[in-house]
Amino acid sequence: MKRGIHMCPRCFFCELQAETINHLFLHCKVVRQLWHLFTSFRGTSWTMPQRANQAIESWNTEGSGSTDQSRWRIVPAVIWWTIWKERNMRCFESISSPLHRIKTNCIITFCYWCSLEYVDDPIVVIDILGSL
Ligand SMILES: [Zn+2]
Repeated sequence: MKRGIHMCPRCFFCELQAETINHLFLHCKVVRQLWHLFTSFRGTSWTMPQRANQAIESWNTEGSGSTDQSRWRIVPAVIWWTIWKERNMRCFESISSPLHRIKTNCIITFCYWCSLEYVDDPIVVIDILGSL
């Protein structure tokens, strides 16, 4: 928009709020489901901070009791990458994935980033998610 390109200033997911960094990556109802997905794997709840830098700090503190802290620490990047790819598909290609597909893409990306290979064995997926 700064360069004069006409773009919708509304969030491509909820279409209710302005698309800001904090809304898109932290507070939108869609991205909140992804954050909740990972906290639920660990059986914890987490209070979302207002800003992205606070979220990273809080997330890393929350993960101090994690079995595999390095995996816990990549979760924000996985969520943001998943949301960013989906957002760009909606913005530039007018293609929208349903929520269950977005969640699946997020988990697949997480497992791929953890193991550096495509994981299609459900047992391996469960082991990776269980290490959080
Ligand atoms: Zn939104």
